[in-house]
Amino acid sequence: GNATGAGADDVGSAVKAHFVLVPLMYQGHVIPAVDTALLLATHGALASVVATPSNAARIRPTVDLARRSGLPIRLVELPLDCAAEGLPEEADDVDKIPFGLAPNYFRALTLLAEPLERHLRAHPPYPTCIISDFCHPWTVQVAANLKVPRLSFFSMCTFCLLCQHNVERYNSYDAVADDNEPVVVPGLEKRIEVTRAQAPGFFRAPGFEKLADEIELVQGEADGAVVNSFLEMEPEYVAGYAAARKMKVWTIGPVSLYHQHAATLAKRGNTTTAIDADECLRWLEGKEPNTVLYVSFGSIVHADPKQVIELGLGLEGSGHPFVWVLKNPDQYGEDVHEFLQDLEERVTGRGMLVRGWSPQVLILNHAAVGGFVTHCGWNSTLEAIAAGLPVVTWPHFSDQFLNEKLAVEVLGIGVSVGIKEPLMWVSKKEIVVGREVVEAAVRSIMDGGEEGKERRRKALALSEKARTAVQKGGSSLGNLLDLIKHFEVDAGGCMAVQKDA
Ligand code: UDP
Repeated sequence: GNATGAGADDVGSAVKAHFVLVPLMYQGHVIPAVDTALLLATHGALASVVATPSNAARIRPTVDLARRSGLPIRLVELPLDCAAEGLPEEADDVDKIPFGLAPNYFRALTLLAEPLERHLRAHPPYPTCIISDFCHPWTVQVAANLKVPRLSFFSMCTFCLLCQHNVERYNSYDAVADDNEPVVVPGLEKRIEVTRAQAPGFFRAPGFEKLADEIELVQGEADGAVVNSFLEMEPEYVAGYAAARKMKVWTIGPVSLYHQHAATLAKRGNTTTAIDADECLRWLEGKEPNTVLYVSFGSIVHADPKQVIELGLGLEGSGHPFVWVLKNPDQYGEDVHEFLQDLEERVTGRGMLVRGWSPQVLILNHAAVGGFVTHCGWNSTLEAIAAGLPVVTWPHFSDQFLNEKLAVEVLGIGVSVGIKEPLMWVSKKEIVVGREVVEAAVRSIMDGGEEGKERRRKALALSEKARTAVQKGGSSLGNLLDLIKHFEVDAGGCMAVQKDA
């Protein structure tokens, strides 16, 4: 293993505990794990973040910057043995996993167990707690060998966790033959309906059967859960999940609020943004408050070319200024390229296209931005909430359908475009959402009369609560400090950080 940490910044300092964070190496998991590490380090614990090379390259600038400012944070780079699972070497970057080989990737990850254990034994101080992504059941053995506790890390809402847990625990889907038939989630006060198609359970997909079972098993045995959410947003679900799992749940979010400066935000998640943060902010400067729509579908979703064009036409038709992020424009053919170029000309000054990675949280927090069209990835959803923005919800897969329900039905800050079934991998339709649906949804969050005002008011109130939660005296900061205290070397004790060879 290769560690950023050989630099002597953390030598000589004393830390209260040593947390080892093992994120799943997808951006939606790595980003909140790094933010969590930064938060732990800010409050006196050493935080080591484990990453494979391509991910390490993405987060190194953030870690280096934090280390230079004196924070006890380390990056532990471990190579991934792709060949052992028949993957090309570059598959360490999840964007480059060949189609259909994702199960192999998850098996390759389990091979990190032995090198990780060896690294941690060889680089003091000895860990006091492992916080591993819930998708990494293999970390159970590492923690057991090291004889340290292990917490599951979730960048998910507890509403989603509890709904999924209850549906599985009571076998709710057994009663329905059709994947699209709604069932009521048992054990909740509020009536929430889900379908197996929308919420099948984590990794309940062909090729992942073993992983799905292991995830469920080891989650039940974890020493607690660390969740990127905040109590005041969903108190009954935080309590419900803790009770159902009989474990402590530390809500410490929104972790994106760690970042209070454009400099660290611009680096968040990627070493290169497709657009210069300053340029982006200058563009937003010229716009009236709450008028610009931000449109992005996260780091994984690949949209059908015809749907991309339809969305573009809907945005154009809505009449609102917009920033539209297209993650991988190169994957599309000439027709989409031409369409996008023509569109850019037609909406010059009003619409901005970002081809690649955008400084999302920086944009969301600009006063000009007034709404977010999102795929409901949890990070994006919570970032919208932290920024006080109403959302148009357009879920694609995984926890996104439940996040949509939280936003629309529980929090009252969203308008749905009405997706019924997962859109990636299984969707055979080309255009699922017509331009007129996009237009109508955008209009209702941006200027939807009394209902629109009410949604915006609720979003702003949540943002206030989120900000209070991470400040002194707030629930999330309190939980973070409690988490550190819980795993201190010995009550009140400190350990010296040795030179990291
Ligand atoms: N993100 C970003 N720029 C982009 C795309 C995504 O900064 O161009 C960040 C976004 O702010 C969020 C994360 O990447 O923190 C995406 O996570 P999310 O859970 O929303 O979706 P996923 O990518 O996991 O589907």
